Amino acid sequence: MEALSRCVHCGLCVTSCPTYMVTGLETESPRGRIYLARAVSEGRLAITPAVQAHWDLCLQCRACEAVCPSSVPYGQIIEKVRAQTATRGATGRWRPRMRRLLLRHVVGRQRSLAVALAPVRLYARFPLRGLVRRTGVLRLLGRLGQAEAQLPSRPGPPFRPGQALSAPADPRGEALLFTGCVMAELFGEVHRATGRVLARNGIAARAPRGQVCCGALHAHDGDLEFARRLARRNIEAFEREPGLPVVLNSAGCGAAMKEYGALLADDPRFAERARRLAARVTDLTELLASLGSEVPARFHGTVTFQDPCHLAHAQRITAQPRQLLRGIEGCDLRETPGADSCCGAAGIYGLVQPAMSAALRSRKAQALRDAAPDAVVTANPGCQLQLQAAAREAGLGARVLHIAELLDEAYRRADGTDRAGQR
Ligand code: SF4
Ligand code: SF4
Repeated sequence: MEALSRCVHCGLCVTSCPTYMVTGLETESPRGRIYLARAVSEGRLAITPAVQAHWDLCLQCRACEAVCPSSVPYGQIIEKVRAQTATRGATGRWRPRMRRLLLRHVVGRQRSLAVALAPVRLYARFPLRGLVRRTGVLRLLGRLGQAEAQLPSRPGPPFRPGQALSAPADPRGEALLFTGCVMAELFGEVHRATGRVLARNGIAARAPRGQVCCGALHAHDGDLEFARRLARRNIEAFEREPGLPVVLNSAGCGAAMKEYGALLADDPRFAERARRLAARVTDLTELLASLGSEVPARFHGTVTFQDPCHLAHAQRITAQPRQLLRGIEGCDLRETPGADSCCGAAGIYGLVQPAMSAALRSRKAQALRDAAPDAVVTANPGCQLQLQAAAREAGLGARVLHIAELLDEAYRRADGTDRAGQR
């Protein structure tokens, strides 16, 4: 109630909200959703299917939170709303229960996730995938067919905790890499690129064993209890190597871990330890920009940076990635309208709200078509996949890269070496 009552209904957040921009409806705006939450918590309104649908359509992108003059903690409000609707929601129990089971027993367990993603990995590397797309057969598969657009093109081998990263010859510092769940399985190449980029900047990084999924997807789904369980395991894993920064290359995981203090605030054993770990968490771009090293880098072409919501709005990091890109020789950084507006990826949003996700992807496609860059750069795996689909929709041949991949390539272009550092 205290958080809800901070909203003074000024409406300054409304035009930042992607779902409001698409629908134009007050009930699909942050102010409308807060109003509904307050009416429910004061007993003036029941959680009807219509009320729940307005909350369910929220992307949890937190663009509203970033512009709110009253510091309404919208992210925490909507997580608690989801926690309530999961137990006494109005739209049936079967789907939320299935989703929760999958998030707990597949996403939340690295081994199960690896098994579940094995056929996905196989299909993503299938040489005739383009042909499958062109036949239109995917349209017959409903949501599954729509989800196909968001699979990575050719995922490399996984990168899991305990595996080795590139090391600098003469390190000036050390860091610990957080590997994540889906990120570890499908974006191993981004982790390897991150290791090489850190090594070029003099940082010796390693990925400690014992770390698990950050819990962001579970918290966003309202399963705060399971998110807390995962957070406690990560705290224990990173406490074994105290003091070192914990580097993340996934904005969603970074935002979640920086908020472990709030997530475990009522846990007497972990509250202080959670705050300590949160203070060590740093986004890759944040760390690199703070180092100020001048590693020669070259990439001739136009580049646009698309801010992940949880980097721009939850972590308030927008300048550092642009600073790094501007430091690359030949890189023509072009801003596009709505670069910090949600692309519609938002964790599992594309699966549960395919129509709104597609509408937001089309807005990105339009912005990319107008800018026609050579490369689209972002800093979060989900955004990277959605932007790949948007670039395809726009008919662009632009490459869509994680910022670690672009920096890695730019360093190699500058000194004419390959990934193993050979000339
Ligand atoms: S959430 Fe903040 S910006 Fe939005 S209406 Fe309320 S007080 Fe205004
Ligand atoms: S989190 Fe994003 S989608 Fe949800 S109300 Fe705020 S701005 Fe709108």
